[in-house]
Formats: sequence, C-alpha cells, structure tokens
Amino acid sequence: MSQGTLFVVSAPSGAGKTSLVRELVESLDGIQVSISHTTRARREGEVDGVNYHFVEVTEFEAMIERGEFFEYARVFDNYYGTSRPAVQAALAAGQDVILEIDWQGARQVRQQLPEAVSVFILPPSREELERRLSGRGTDEHAVIERRMRDAVSEMSHHDEYDYLVINDDFTTALAELRALVVSHRLTRQRAGATHAPLLQALLA
Ligand code: GDP
Ligand code: ADP
Ligand code: 5GP
Repeated sequence: MSQGTLFVVSAPSGAGKTSLVRELVESLDGIQVSISHTTRARREGEVDGVNYHFVEVTEFEAMIERGEFFEYARVFDNYYGTSRPAVQAALAAGQDVILEIDWQGARQVRQQLPEAVSVFILPPSREELERRLSGRGTDEHAVIERRMRDAVSEMSHHDEYDYLVINDDFTTALAELRALVVSHRLTRQRAGATHAPLLQALLA
C-alpha cells in the first residue's frame, strides 16, 4: 500500500479553511482531517474530540515535554498542536491527511516531512474577511479585532506554500482544493505504488 499524502492548509482566521476542508473530506474518500489539540476555549457548537481536543495548558505542556506533538505553536495566545501518532498511523494506512494549522506549524511540518503539500487559502478582500469573521458569530468583538490584526502577518507567509487558493466563490475554491488532492494521487510515485499489481500484470 502506498503512504498517504500530508496536506497542510493555512489561512487567516475567517478565510474559510474549516468550511472548505469539511466539505472536501465529506465529498472525497480516503482523506481525513487531523483533529488538533488546543488550549483555546470551546466555542458554542464545538464538540470536544470533533473540532478539537480541548485541553488545559498544563496538559498541553506535559504533552510537549513527552514529545507527543508533530508540530505545535502559540496562535492568538493559545496553544495549538498536532499529535504525532494519529497522523503517522493514518498516513501509514494509505489515508491522505489534512492539517489545518498556522504558518509556524507549517514550517515545522516541512522540516520534518519535505514531501508534505502545502496550500494557503486567501480571502477575496480584507473587507470580506472581516465580514466572514463577524458573520460567523462565534467570536467576541475584541477577538475579531485581534484576528483581523494578525491576518496580515499570517497572509505575509503565503509565499512559503506550494499552492494558493482564493476563497471567493466557495464552490470554485472547493473544486480547486479537490483537484489538488486528486492530482497528487495521480503522481507516478503514488499511483505507481497504488497500482503495483496492475503494472506487474501488464508488464509480465
Ligand atoms: P479559526 O481558524 O478562525 O477557525 O480559529 P481557530 O481558533 O480554530 O484557529 C486559530 C489558528 O490556529 C488558525 O490559524 C489555525 O490554522 C491554527 N491552528 C489550529 N490547529 C492548529 C495546530 O494543530 N497547529 C498549529 N500550529 N496551528 C493550528
Ligand atoms: P476559518 O476556518 O478559516 O476560520 P470558516 O470556515 O470558519 O473559516 O469560515 C468563516 C465564515 O465564512 C463562516 O461563517 C463560513 O460559513 C463563511 N464562508 C466560508 N467560505 C465562504 C465563501 N466562499 N463565501 C462566503 N462565506 C464563506
Ligand atoms: P471520507 O473521506 O471517507 O469521508 O472519510 C475518511 C475519514 O475521515 C473517516 O475516518 C472519517 O471519520 C473522517 N472524517 C470525515 N469527515 C470528517 C470531518 O468533517 N472532520 C474530521 N476531523 N474527520 C472527518
């Protein structure tokens, strides 16, 4: 069986990465989202173990000490991190895995796994980003202001990524993201491993 591909998706808060990634994994087999650990407070409607594993700072720091994170970072004064074993097991089982992480985490992933594929999602304008952040209705005014302030610095790292997707029309952005995942399954290295028995039979 061929190893799955690790996709890293980053975007400023509110650009639509969570919505896009959710639709993507629902409409395509063989791909799953890694559920991060975070010390941020749970939003209304978020479920522990589904959106995030919500943990206390002391627990998160103990996990850091034990080397359990593939990558972790502080974003908006909270810790966020990807646990190593879950991602490794899924990739080894041939599943594609998507990490929704910030640029600091993306750097750590590239260092450890240069073949990871990274995608940066941009909003169509600053005004629309602010509209989406407010419209989502999950964060207080001060939190939205903080996220808007940090958006420019997050977006300034777009040039470290392999692909850029503009999330203007949702359906178009989703199709582009999906095309990207599917095309990586067709690379000779990946498709050659998936279809090894066929190749063997054809060349016998
Ligand atoms: P949202 O992006 O507006 O939905 O807000 P969140 O609070 O869910 O996430 C805030 C930021 O943390 C985003 O930039 C995420 O990409 C980032 N993030 C989430 N999970 C992880 C993780 O496991 N590792 C790292 N490095 N960043 C993460
Ligand atoms: P992120 O995970 O990047 O913070 P979300 O997926 O939570 O972003 O999206 C932020 C808000 O914008 C949500 O309310 C979502 O429904 C909305 N949204 C996402 N993509 C689009 C789009 N293409 N057009 C309009 N609204 C969108
Ligand atoms: P599929 O790609 O077949 O829809 O799902 C593959 C794997 O991804 C399954 O293990 C499924 O539980 C998981 N999965 C499907 N949808 C979601 C989702 O919205 N979020 C997360 N984190 N995992 C999902």
